[in-house]
Amino acid sequence: MSVVLGVDVGGTKVAVGPVDASGAILAPLLQEPSVVSDTESFVDGLVETLRGAIGQFGSFEPKAIGLACAGTVDEARRLVVTSPNLPLRRVPLAESLQASLGLQIVLENDANAALLAEATVGVAAGLRDVILLTLGTGVGGGILINGRLYRGVGGGAGELGHTVVCGGGELCRCGARGCLEMYASGRALARFADERAGSEVEDPDRVLARMSERHRLDGRTVGRLATRGYPGALSAARELAIWLGRGLVSLVNAFNPEMIVIGGGVADLGEILLEPARGYVREKAMSPNKDQVQIVQASLGNSAGMVGAGLVAWEVCG
Ligand SMILES: [Zn+2]
Repeated sequence: MSVVLGVDVGGTKVAVGPVDASGAILAPLLQEPSVVSDTESFVDGLVETLRGAIGQFGSFEPKAIGLACAGTVDEARRLVVTSPNLPLRRVPLAESLQASLGLQIVLENDANAALLAEATVGVAAGLRDVILLTLGTGVGGGILINGRLYRGVGGGAGELGHTVVCGGGELCRCGARGCLEMYASGRALARFADERAGSEVEDPDRVLARMSERHRLDGRTVGRLATRGYPGALSAARELAIWLGRGLVSLVNAFNPEMIVIGGGVADLGEILLEPARGYVREKAMSPNKDQVQIVQASLGNSAGMVGAGLVAWEVCG
C-alpha cells in the first residue's frame, strides 16, 4: 500500500498519521509532545518522533513526509522563515529532516494545509475558490484560488488574522493595532467574557468573576459556558461574532469566494458564532459577492492540518 506521513507540528504536540492519496487516514495517530525550548532541541525532538512514526507505520512503507506548522514557509516549501509558536527563524527544516530520516520532506503552513484538506475531503470538497479562517489562540488563514493554494511571492500570503478591523484598536503581536486576531481569537473571547465578569445582568451568579479571579477564564471555558447558554459567555460570543463579521465582509468583497470555512477551537461555538456573522455579512458586504458565499464551520477538526500536510506531500511525490 502506498502512503505518505502527514505531520501536524504544534507548539504543544506533534501528531503523525499515514495518509493515502485520497486524503484518508489509515491508522490511529501517533502523538508526542513538542520540545520548543530552542531550535536544536526542537529539531532533535521532531527527528525522534518521526523515527518512531516511521517504525510504527513501517508496514505502510511511507514514501514521503508532509509537515504542517504555524508560520511562513518559503523557498519552494523547504524553509521555515518564521513561526509564532515554534523556535524556527529561517531554519531549513526540510533539509535537516531529510538528512536524518532519508525520506523526502515537504513543508506547508498549517492553515494552508487545513484548507487543502477541507477542499479535498472536507466541507469544501470540490470547490475551487475558498477562504479558510482558523480561530484559535491566534487567527490563521488560507486562500484557495481556482483550486490552488495562493502563497504570494514569499510564501507569506493568507495572514488574514492581521487584516485590520478596528482602526487604533488593541495592539497585536505583529506590531499593528486592531487586527482581526485581537477580536476573533480564543484570547479575544476570554477578554470579552472578562469585561462582563461581575455584571449583575450578564454574570448573575459570578461564575465569570470567580474564574477571572483564579485566572481560569480562557477561550475554551467561555466557549463551553456559551454553548450551555450562560448569559455573559453568550454575549461575549456574540460580540466576537460581529467582529468576525467585519473581517468576513472584507474577505467576501476582496475575493468573491464560493465558501469561507471557519475552523479552530472558537468555531466549536457553531451557529452561536456563525449565524450573527452571516447576518453581518448579508447586511454589509457587496452584491453579488455576499449572495454567492456560504459561510460554514470546518468539518475535519484537529486532523485537518495533518491530512493537508499529507496531501501536500502527495502533490510533490505522487
Ligand atoms: Zn496583527
